[in-house]
Amino acid sequence: MTVRVGSVKLGFCCPIVIQSMTKVPTVDVTRCVRQVNQLVRAGCGLVRVSVPTRPAAAAFAEIVQKVDVPLIADIHFSSARAVEAIEAGAAKIRLNPGNIKKRRDILRIIDAAKMHGAAIRVGVNEASIRDLKSKPVPAGKRAALMLKEMKKYVRLFESRSFDQLVLSAKSSDATRTIEINRRLAETFDYPMHLGLTHAGLPEDAAIPSAVALGTLLAEGIGDTIRVSAAANPVVETKIAKQILIALGLYERSRPELIVCPTCARVEIDLVKLARQVEKALRKIDKPVRIAVMGCVVNGPGEAADADLALCAAKSRAFLYRKGRKISAVPNNRIIPALLKELQKL
Ligand code: SF4
Repeated sequence: MTVRVGSVKLGFCCPIVIQSMTKVPTVDVTRCVRQVNQLVRAGCGLVRVSVPTRPAAAAFAEIVQKVDVPLIADIHFSSARAVEAIEAGAAKIRLNPGNIKKRRDILRIIDAAKMHGAAIRVGVNEASIRDLKSKPVPAGKRAALMLKEMKKYVRLFESRSFDQLVLSAKSSDATRTIEINRRLAETFDYPMHLGLTHAGLPEDAAIPSAVALGTLLAEGIGDTIRVSAAANPVVETKIAKQILIALGLYERSRPELIVCPTCARVEIDLVKLARQVEKALRKIDKPVRIAVMGCVVNGPGEAADADLALCAAKSRAFLYRKGRKISAVPNNRIIPALLKELQKL
């Protein structure tokens, strides 16, 4: 089924949507709006904003008015904040019902969401799963318990005739994230949000996120993704975009740069040249594939599907268009020659 989050549709055949979260204080409306806009430019289709306090809820109401992207209010323990955020114009709220103690408070949130047309992301986190004696649960049993918990929550929402749900089950462990999300996908028809919790610094977060999210997305599981990393959220968005691009799930509007891994055949500083090309391409907004290759032995063949390929030799580079040699340029003219050919594409 599909769920509407403001102007964005999730589920069924809809494109996978990247989301990230602002990391400046919500009460600082100017900075928050600026970061939301940066995330949109980086590729986010949805942006989440924390609403931990009453002043944050008031600021959230202002932020909603100043941005074009649907906002998700991140709520933890307060049903009052959830209702305030919904009334302020949240397109979706992120809620872990286990954090809201009273059933009647959850029902109040559901009723507000129904009235204002907001969706609700229902989350279960591995870290919050406890057995009946409130002891930590062994790893092997956690997915089953998370599924049980999710079934309980979904029943509660459905009992109130609310179906604008997005489901999410998170762990900091890639394999368990894959396992629990496979189980959720087998059990429910609601759109799903994918992510790992506490993924780490960007260099540590990228690979576990790519493995977990990439595996699930390749199986057709997942409708929105967030890569969590201790970094500027634009970095999270770039990693998420790379995961989608690798799976052919992201429609490019900008150049793709391919660089050969280099080997003993390289006669120039190819990484330096690739960095110069990458910088030159930042201003280009065409979905073209550009290759920078280290030799004319294997380079032309390996880059045959690139729109333009530079194959470097000692004092000059050979320029290829779709596998056909078009010119040879001295090393100090490579970037202008590439940009000139780009104009013609
Ligand atoms: S393209 Fe040439 S330089 Fe680059 S890795 Fe292949 S053989 Fe080596």
